[in-house]
Amino acid sequence: MTTTPSITLVDTHAHLDADEFDTDRSEVIARAHDTGVTTIITVGTGVGSGRRSIELSEKYPDILVAIGIHPHASSNATGAEINSIARLAEHPKVVAIGEIGLDFYRDYSPRESQLQVFQQQLDLAARLDLPVVIHCREAHEEMLAILHNWTARHAERPSPGVIHCFMGDGETARQYLEMGFYLSLGGYITYPVNRDAHDVIRSIPADRLMVETDCPFLAPQRYRGQRNEPSYVRYTAEELAGIRDAHLETLARETTENARRLFGW
Ligand SMILES: [Zn+2]
Repeated sequence: MTTTPSITLVDTHAHLDADEFDTDRSEVIARAHDTGVTTIITVGTGVGSGRRSIELSEKYPDILVAIGIHPHASSNATGAEINSIARLAEHPKVVAIGEIGLDFYRDYSPRESQLQVFQQQLDLAARLDLPVVIHCREAHEEMLAILHNWTARHAERPSPGVIHCFMGDGETARQYLEMGFYLSLGGYITYPVNRDAHDVIRSIPADRLMVETDCPFLAPQRYRGQRNEPSYVRYTAEELAGIRDAHLETLARETTENARRLFGW
């Protein structure tokens, strides 16, 4: 019998309010706890989703919340919605504004509205002094330009936030790191097709790395195609330790410390 080391991990990006968890949400959360996931940051994608996420955080002590309007939903976002996000962000368990960003891959919302709603929420985060959780797909060039500008105007902040589900080349990683961002990696690093990314993954400093699930999406290879859940963040951590030739215990400790430093609890 093999003994699994007792490690603690943080799932820095989950969508626990998703319908996929409606039938067994409390079991999913209990299972995460049993596997050593001490904290889950559940991430809203709009006002309704944000409200549901806050309700979950009131019910479960180990859940923290990010509040924001996802780029997919930005075409419907009015000024009133941004104000609602600002009000929700006052809740004591809200630790970040997110997920916000740009998605030029799906293009579910017109790019113009994505850019506008993203900028409004960056300004909100700076005003509230909260870190941001960034979603970026096929828009790194625009993203880097916007964030360079934004971080230069708010250079006094220790870290501006995290790039969630980071998948980019070494140069893109370098630029985000230079601006002070953390890079968070998910179950997709276990997919054989992403072996090419190992060099970039090794290049990320240990004090800027985080792990996440993005559940219910992006289950790691062994559960690929099925529903993802916070307890599976362990498979990502194991893979990451293997890629970086690090001890799992060390990697778990470092990524947990990083999450705590950024989100401040
Ligand atoms: Zn997400």
